[in-house]
Amino acid sequence: MRYTQLFGKTVKNVSSDLESRNAELLTKAGFVDQLTAGVYTYLPLGLRVLNRIKDIVREEMDAIGGQEILMPALTPKEPWKISGRWDDPGREVMFQFEGHGDKEYALGWTHEEIVTPLVKKFVKSYKDLPVMVYQIQDKFRNEARAKAGLLRGREFSMKDLYSFHRDEAGLVAYYEKTKQAYFNVFKRCGLDAFIVRASGGTFSKYSDEYQVLTDSGEDTIFYCSACRYAENKEVAEMKGGDKCPKCKDGTIIEARAIEVGNIFMNKTKYTDAFDFKYIDETGKPQPVMMGCYGIGPSRVMGTIAEIYNDANGLKWPASIAPCDLHLIEIKSKDEKVREQATALYGALMQTGLEVLYDDREDKGAGEKFADADLIGIPKRIVISEKTLKDESVEIKDRATGETKMVKLVDLGKELEHYFGGCGCGEEHQH
Ligand code: ATP
Ligand code: MG
Repeated sequence: MRYTQLFGKTVKNVSSDLESRNAELLTKAGFVDQLTAGVYTYLPLGLRVLNRIKDIVREEMDAIGGQEILMPALTPKEPWKISGRWDDPGREVMFQFEGHGDKEYALGWTHEEIVTPLVKKFVKSYKDLPVMVYQIQDKFRNEARAKAGLLRGREFSMKDLYSFHRDEAGLVAYYEKTKQAYFNVFKRCGLDAFIVRASGGTFSKYSDEYQVLTDSGEDTIFYCSACRYAENKEVAEMKGGDKCPKCKDGTIIEARAIEVGNIFMNKTKYTDAFDFKYIDETGKPQPVMMGCYGIGPSRVMGTIAEIYNDANGLKWPASIAPCDLHLIEIKSKDEKVREQATALYGALMQTGLEVLYDDREDKGAGEKFADADLIGIPKRIVISEKTLKDESVEIKDRATGETKMVKLVDLGKELEHYFGGCGCGEEHQH
């Protein structure tokens, strides 16, 4: 991608109502644009990051047997009335409105009421279970405060997985599988998530949250420094400075954190509400056991931006970065620089790596370097009259700040060392 052709450039002065670090950085770097509080447009670079996060989520959900579907975001009132959530707690967070002929609707803020009757249509007998379906879709919530950038949107991306089982053992076994898949997602996104006991479980009293430590987080958690056992302050039976009640060894630390995922065993709460039963081996109707599992890809993106940055800008982990390489050409009177830069850009793209090529002719080195730091692509390659004198380019690592000169003839090998083969992260030939 050529920077001159990229839609959505870095922004010098951002509005002061961007009260959070992630919104400020992502706006300055040209990744998002705020339409109104809690509502964002994703510009090309930002959309790349969001899509890479969604792809990781997708892979991990597919790996545990999830099948992707897409349910409507426009939902009629009736199913919400059946579960009771039209009035409470729905009224607070749901965007409810009237359509033609007094028909009432809400924008999807979660989908238990939609997915349960859907799956009921297809499941009759024990042979039809289990069913695991998920979607990645924008959710809408009338959040009271939406001042934390992507961390708290009024429209935001959610992956919601729903599982349906013959019995509690089946549900518990699958719930354990999703726990691991969730850790995989966060790890692959560069986040060190704690699994935290939280409120909000319907039947089991507790649910499990995935929390990432960050000062900008809206939650407070207590965690053990040794075994990582953790509780949300809302339900905590421990406090900072205590000995860990689980491992009896570590000390409990109090910290701010952001909830990036939340999983629940709803058991029969929604299946009962929609009278969803299956016929067992003996011909008897049995209740269907249900689990619900959410991750917020846009909140994950905001969390990564909160954690991976410095005074100069963003520092994306390679797995979700908008591009692999930021190629900077330093303008020169010598036409050879442009020729070589263009050739290098072409050659890099041939390897399958994603490259942002700063080909601006009206900007000096200082501004290009500053923009590269702000955008935060993991590796920067500089090509200039000076580096070419030595038949080299300079490579800089955004995370460590380390620079080194690499001969053009050795560049392929060097990049293979960073990215492995074609750079797509898989072991195969393209
Ligand atoms: P919170 O307590 O932060 O309001 P929640 O418990 O209401 O979140 P869930 O209903 O569990 O959220 O939603 C599943 C996931 O969706 C959350 O773990 C989070 O990653 C994401 N999410 C929820 N609300 C928002 C929001 N307003 N903006 C961005 N992501 C959100
Ligand atoms: Mg939650």
